[in-house]
Amino acid sequence: MKQKFLAFKKRVLTFFHKAGRNFLYFLIAFTTIFVIMTAIIIQVIQAGVYRTTDADLMMRKDNSVELSLIGTNSLGYENSNKLPSDDLNQSIIEKNPLPENSNSYHQLKNAGFYVILFDENGLILNTEIDPMASLMQENELEMDISALETVTSQNVENQAFRTVISKVEKENQITINGTKIAYIQIFQNVNQIRDSLSTIMTEIIITMLVFWILSLFFAIGLSRLSIHPLELALERQKAFVSNASHELRTPLAIMQNRLQLLFQHPDATILEESEHISASLNEVRNMRVLTKNLLNMAKSDGSVRIQPVETDISFFEEVFDNFKILSKEKNKRFTSQIQLKGKLNLDQELIKQILVIFYDNAVKYTDDKGEISIRVQKQRNDLLLIISDNGIGVSAADKKKIFDRFYRVDEVRTRGKGGLGLGLSLVQEIVYAMRGKIFVEDNQPKGTKFIVKLKI
Ligand code: ADP
Repeated sequence: MKQKFLAFKKRVLTFFHKAGRNFLYFLIAFTTIFVIMTAIIIQVIQAGVYRTTDADLMMRKDNSVELSLIGTNSLGYENSNKLPSDDLNQSIIEKNPLPENSNSYHQLKNAGFYVILFDENGLILNTEIDPMASLMQENELEMDISALETVTSQNVENQAFRTVISKVEKENQITINGTKIAYIQIFQNVNQIRDSLSTIMTEIIITMLVFWILSLFFAIGLSRLSIHPLELALERQKAFVSNASHELRTPLAIMQNRLQLLFQHPDATILEESEHISASLNEVRNMRVLTKNLLNMAKSDGSVRIQPVETDISFFEEVFDNFKILSKEKNKRFTSQIQLKGKLNLDQELIKQILVIFYDNAVKYTDDKGEISIRVQKQRNDLLLIISDNGIGVSAADKKKIFDRFYRVDEVRTRGKGGLGLGLSLVQEIVYAMRGKIFVEDNQPKGTKFIVKLKI
């Protein structure tokens, strides 16, 4: 269990190490977007939920006479009429007829609506009537006229209110027990809205968090996708450079040695030192092959250009005649078979390159008296190139890898044969560029068989 955890931790760490900067950018970008989005949504909702309540308060606040009557419980069927009906009060009431749908104090109280009446100095005049007024007194809240005529939020004993305070015009100031009502503050309880708002907020924040986490996963995926090809390219390049320099080092070292030996006998003739000279020449030849391969590889990188020309059997005959001569020199047996009629459109240079690489390999990986055969054959809409040898063969596991750059089955055994492990990967690139396919099979009874299938 602990090992599993450690392995997981290591994977996570290497991921962060590799994805590093990309991931950090994604993380910052996504987090910023989500935080801003959440803030905007919350802002919009908050502004929206109190809109109706606020509009209602703003509409009511100006009707000071109605509010004075409500605040003194002088309205409605339970008309206890706390208001002294002196002449002045009566004339004010007459001048300001009540709206038709005016509610009684009790009805409003049940709906969480409260009215507090203040005198000029902020003293509450309706403490005995309005529970809100007594609440305010208990909490030692004083009249606050800093935000006159503006709806604000206020919390009293964990109750949420929207409230507005307004000044009563002089001529409409009703008198209670000889004191004039100078300011009226109205409250609307918004506990329910607040509670549902907090539920909505929690839901929004949870949703946002979930999407944020999801987006992080996407970010991880994306950053992985975006760095993977770069990583591969970098690895290939590194391998290319290190292999190439390694391969060049051996012939250079040999040459250096041999040339230094020549200096030990400054008077010797060329003939006497021919062994060293020819060995150096050999290495030069090796290096030429190597550099040619490297150059081909670099040139073909990603962009093999195909230039087909009309081709007939004579092109193949010429190539195979050369192979025959070379094989004799190298003590191999070469046979060829060409089953073609008429003309084909082929890129001769690329086809020759493919055949040379396969032929070279067949020569390299067969023993003395090795047998190499190449068959060229048209099969429906395909051109088949089949190269077989009776050499050392390729194991099942290696069949998948030999087309990789720099892959060689047995480094020790194949070193010195002049290969870099580039030949087959070059073949593969050319064949893919021609929209063809390559197969590798065991040759019977021994050796390897490569089949190239090209569309014509
Ligand atoms: P190299 O330059 O090493 O030959 P290639 O890319 O041409 O590189 O081949 C990759 C490896 O595949 C070789 O190193 C060798 O191990 C194996 N291979 C290629 N052709 C043959 C063959 N005809 N018979 C056996 N093994 C082969």
